[in-house]
Amino acid sequence: MKPFNNLNRRDFLKVLAASGLATTLPSGMTIAAEQSDSKARIVIIGCGLAGLASAHRLRRQLPNAEITIIDGKWEHNYQPGYTLIATGVWNDTNKVKTANAKLIPNGVKWIQEAVTEIQPDNKVVLTNANNKVPYDYLIVATGLRLGYDKIEGLDLLAFGQKGLGSVYHSPETAMATWHAMDEFRKKGGRAVMTLAGTDMKCAGAPLKMTFMVADRIRQAGTTSGSQIDFFAAKTAIFSVKPVADKVLELWKTLDVAPNVHYQKELIGVNMDSQTAIFRQPETGEQSTEHYDFIHIVPPMFAPDVILNNNELANEKGWLNVNAETLQHTKYPNIFGLGDINGTPRGKTAATVKKSAPIVVHNLIRTINGQTPDVAFDGYTSCPMLVREGEAMLVEFNGKGELTPTLPLVNPLQPSYFAWYLEDVMLKPAYMTVLRGHA
Ligand SMILES: Cc1cc2nc3c(=O)[nH]c(=O)nc-3n(C[C@H](O)[C@H](O)[C@H](O)COP(=O)(O)OP(=O)(O)OC[C@H]3O[C@@H](n4cnc5c(N)ncnc54)[C@H](O)[C@@H]3O)c2cc1C
Repeated sequence: MKPFNNLNRRDFLKVLAASGLATTLPSGMTIAAEQSDSKARIVIIGCGLAGLASAHRLRRQLPNAEITIIDGKWEHNYQPGYTLIATGVWNDTNKVKTANAKLIPNGVKWIQEAVTEIQPDNKVVLTNANNKVPYDYLIVATGLRLGYDKIEGLDLLAFGQKGLGSVYHSPETAMATWHAMDEFRKKGGRAVMTLAGTDMKCAGAPLKMTFMVADRIRQAGTTSGSQIDFFAAKTAIFSVKPVADKVLELWKTLDVAPNVHYQKELIGVNMDSQTAIFRQPETGEQSTEHYDFIHIVPPMFAPDVILNNNELANEKGWLNVNAETLQHTKYPNIFGLGDINGTPRGKTAATVKKSAPIVVHNLIRTINGQTPDVAFDGYTSCPMLVREGEAMLVEFNGKGELTPTLPLVNPLQPSYFAWYLEDVMLKPAYMTVLRGHA
């Protein structure tokens, strides 16, 4: 492999410089930092990337406001790093862990509890410790819930054993997934890769896992005794067609493409016999498949606090926000940020990067009695790993149109640069977003 693949060294350095800008500015736009001396009470639910990015910005832009963040989780996880752990690129789970106490901005109150109910008409949230927290304005940033409980027979403690893997759950499960993949690649056999039928966070991750398992067996010399099958619950492997087409083209060269099965939803596993049970969503017909390694992608849902709230949820259970202003469609004093939003696509950190400044801007305008005036275009991106040392930097908007922002980088051309972004540059960029500087 040439060191920079489709980029020569000079181009690579030019792009690197440009991408430095790209990580410190919202892609393609600058928003005036709206200020206010309001003493409003603002509650943020969730201490993930979305909650922290908005807390940092609000603290700076509303110096007199009373800002509270509610989340019972004490540790923040850099989730994009799970893919690198689960494929053996990073070998230390500490790289994706930071204590929330170190990330919450000074002057923001942290209630270490879970919100159990939001009463939007009373402007109050209730917590699992029977606390009642009143607010004037609310940012919902709860992320999503992983529905592993919908897969019958699955024991979450068994990841890493008998070929069982899943990149999504936690740093430890990502490491266990690598152990299972590493064992599998030594002998080869049948890898069963799955894709859920619901909206998902980082919908590219199951594809990255598939590319990387193929690469790991290639490196181990066990490709000839192996087969990789991809079972998608939907009718496509990715919702952005040019990306799906490109991935399928690359999978042809890896012999995955003949074994892509559509409308096969994973509903159960038998961990003793190493078999997976799939259901055809329309006919309900079931089939059983043997695996030596399985990558489980659970269905994903809004957390119950939104899912069960008819005033706040849309028909699919996600927070019902205006896709452009990210303001709740019924309650103007509520905004949504991150994976919880019922917006098309865009459950990624890249989406938070571009939409956090917009939410804060539009919220402060609302506090000042003005209407939101900046629209989000649904931007998201995903460095799609295709083998060790190569990735494609795919960027697109809410309509599923490719929207490349970096010069000289073809979004559908694997390059070392895109790999370098994921491996080295993405985490510092993520932390910049989290601290409200990007
Ligand atoms: C394997 C994997 C790979 C990924 N790769 C990429 C990538 O390459 N590029 C990219 O841009 N994105 C990627 N992502 C997606 C990205 O990590 C998420 O989109 C992003 O972290 C979402 O941030 P969030 O704040 O909305 O949710 P989260 O970071 O999940 O945080 C939600 C927080 O809300 C809290 N919470 C939930 N319910 C309640 C409640 N009732 N009360 C109080 N608190 C609550 C939770 O405890 C949690 O701390 C990846 C994700 C995974 C899992």
